[in-house]
Order: sequence, then structure tokens, then C-alpha cells
Amino acid sequence: MKSFGCKRMPIHGHLSSTSAGFYPSKLFAKTRRRKGTEVLIETFIRKQLRLKAHTVTDVEENEACMVIRIDRLGQRLLRCGICRQRCREVHDVRRERQWRDLSMRKLPLVLRYRPRRVDCPRCGVRVEDLPWAEPWARVTTALANAVAMLARELSWQGTAREYGLNWKSVATIVKRAVEYGLRNRARPPVHVIGIDEVSRRKGQVYLTVVYDLERRVLLWVGEDRTEEAVRKFFTREMGRRRCRTLQVVCMDMWAPYYNLVRAHAPNAQILFDRFHIVKHLNEAVDEVRRNLMRTLRGHARASFKGTRWLLLKNPWNLTAHQSERLSTLVRWNSPLVRAWYLKESFQLFWPYQQRKRAEDHLRKWMDSAMRSRLEPFKKFVCMLRSHLEGVLAWSQHHLSNAAVEGMNNKIKSISHRSFGFRSAENFIAAIYHCCARLPLPTER
Ligand SMILES: [Zn+2]
Repeated sequence: MKSFGCKRMPIHGHLSSTSAGFYPSKLFAKTRRRKGTEVLIETFIRKQLRLKAHTVTDVEENEACMVIRIDRLGQRLLRCGICRQRCREVHDVRRERQWRDLSMRKLPLVLRYRPRRVDCPRCGVRVEDLPWAEPWARVTTALANAVAMLARELSWQGTAREYGLNWKSVATIVKRAVEYGLRNRARPPVHVIGIDEVSRRKGQVYLTVVYDLERRVLLWVGEDRTEEAVRKFFTREMGRRRCRTLQVVCMDMWAPYYNLVRAHAPNAQILFDRFHIVKHLNEAVDEVRRNLMRTLRGHARASFKGTRWLLLKNPWNLTAHQSERLSTLVRWNSPLVRAWYLKESFQLFWPYQQRKRAEDHLRKWMDSAMRSRLEPFKKFVCMLRSHLEGVLAWSQHHLSNAAVEGMNNKIKSISHRSFGFRSAENFIAAIYHCCARLPLPTER
């Protein structure tokens, strides 16, 4: 073991050559002006940790890490860990604890200190406030923030490898950061929200996500998509006062969501999401195709295979070969022709700016769909009829969850890069961490 005791290290020759982004400090700015000044490594660390009532007593280096011993500085007043008030009385000295800090070059730093318990006039006997770490954390705030930042880009496993931690430590750091962020995030009034769902474990379990469509930021994630589960968003996250500012809610035609919005934000306009409506429409076309395929045999059936995409693709995107196949296909199968034309003519609904015209188009379309003798389309029309107000609201707002499509894709990639989270709790923490723009704890 080599002790740095009181050895002087010239800042210019040594420390300023550490890799970029590393201890970016006021110190360097100062030393640059006073050329050639040597700084004790103890002083350097004390300044970096912004110690006021503590000091660095010793720095030891071994193969694995650099150990930094910290002690109380004279009789300086310590702060209460709960309310941060300065306290006169020190109750006792606890046993030594250690904290991992950011590495110096490749060498991890470890801080060692015996925390005091102070006698706070307000809170009683409490562990003192440590300027370098959150209470009970085993890493410093600087390291925790660095880990949390990287965990927004990489999987938790990858982050752990990068910092020489284990997966569990990263999970703890991220969950603490999310807790802190949720407690301290800005909560401006919300006017337009989008409710959507994401599946976990290949569509077996669902999570409900709520976005602020104006700010394009995630507001809330909850397990499941039942009325009971999603109610928490309105009661806990929003509360009665914030619910009153809601003007538009964009969502799928899913009864639990509808009931909740009616109950908690009765003044908000419900708007059914364009992409969900198109999804239902495409499902109707596909059902017609599948029903037809069941009735076909032999050669007819073979030429029918692989036609799903021909029908769902926009006609102007088809190649010459594909459009020829499509025209053969529709000549043979009149139900399919009807389905295909219905699908195409429905799409004309979206560009309308005036509600009256949009409504006229939709009503005409629904009448012709009802006369098409296609059961899946009749079902689709029934669905539209019972949600007509929310479907027509599109022409006034032209809003959809497409604004946050990127965020939904991000959630998918979070799940994918971690090979699917085994627990919903971790998955939810990761979603908040990456999509909700939460603040990280500040270094004091
Ligand atoms: Zn206190």
C-alpha cells in the first residue's frame, strides 16, 4: 500500500490530464490562471466533494481502488440528515461506512467516514446530513447521477458493466432516481393527454401509459389496463384540481378508459385515436380475407397466400407486379373488393377540416358499409356509431397519439434491450426514467 500522506501532486503534470468529463471543476479554471501551482490531492478531493464541515485526512492507493478517509473538521457544526438544520450537539459516532465514488482515471474512489448522529432540536437524534451522498445510499450522488444518466441509454446490465457495479446496484440507483424525480418534477397544468397501452411479455400483460401530448412527455405508467388500475392516474397523479384543466383526452375505444374520463374529467372532450381506428378497420379487412380463405380450396387458395400486405398497403406504394396481383385478386373475390374499397374510402375522412362535412362523409360511409354484407364491417360500424362523438372530434382537433409514437417505440426498445423485464416494477421504473424527463438529485 502506498500512502499519499502529504505528497504534493502538480496539477498540471498529472491531474489535468484525466479523461474529459471527469471532475469538471472550478479548480482547473483556477489552476489554469495560477500556472505551476501544486495542489494537495486531499485538497483537490475536498473541493470536489464540496466539504465544509468535513475534511480529507488521508488518501491511500492500492491495486483495486483509492481509499479516501474523511473526518469531521474541528468543531464545525453538522447538519441534521432530515431537516438539514445546523445542530450544536453531536450525540454519538457510528461505525465506519464506505461509499463508492466516480473513478479517478481507472481507479475507483472509495470514501470512508464514521457518520455522527446529531441531536436536532426539531427531529431528535438523527444521522447527520452527508454532503456527498443521499441518506442510506452506498454510492456518492456524483456516481449515482452518472450511472442514472447512462442507464437512460444502455440496459441496466450494460450500465453496471461500464461502472464495475452489479445489476442490482444499478436497479437501486435508477429506482431511487425515479422516486426523487417523481417527487421533485415540475407539474405544469395539463391540457391534452393521450392514454395508450404497451404490452409486456409479448402481449400477455399490459401497462397503461399516459402522455402529455402538448409537452410530449410521459406523465404516468400503471400496471394493467383495468378501470381500477387506471383510476389511480386520475385520483393520485392528477387529483381533482388538476383534472379540471383537462381539455382533450385522446385514446382507444376501450370502455374502462372512457368511463374513467367521464367520471373524473367530465368537461374534457374525448377523442378516439386515429391510429386505433385505422387498426380496427384493418382488422375488419383482414377478417374478411381470412373468412374467404377458409372457403377456398386448391389452386385458388394457393394464389391467395401472401396477399395480406397487398390489401393493407397504400395503393400508391404497390409495385407493378403487386398491383397486377391485386387486380387479379379483386376480380376473383368480390367480398374482398368491397372490403378493399370500403377501407380506401374510409381514409378520406381524415383530411376534413369542417365537422359537418366530416360527419356527412362518415354517415354515408357507414350506410354503405352496412349494405356491404360483410359482417366484420358491420361490427366496425356498430363500434363507430356508439362512439360517434369521439370519432368526429378528430375534425376539430386533428390530434392523435402519433405525437408520442416515438416514445412508444422507445418503451419497446427499453423492454427489448433488457430482454423483457421480469418484474413490472422494474419495467415501470425504467419507462419513467427514460421517458418522463425527471430531474436527477442535485449535488450539494
Ligand atoms: Zn432535524
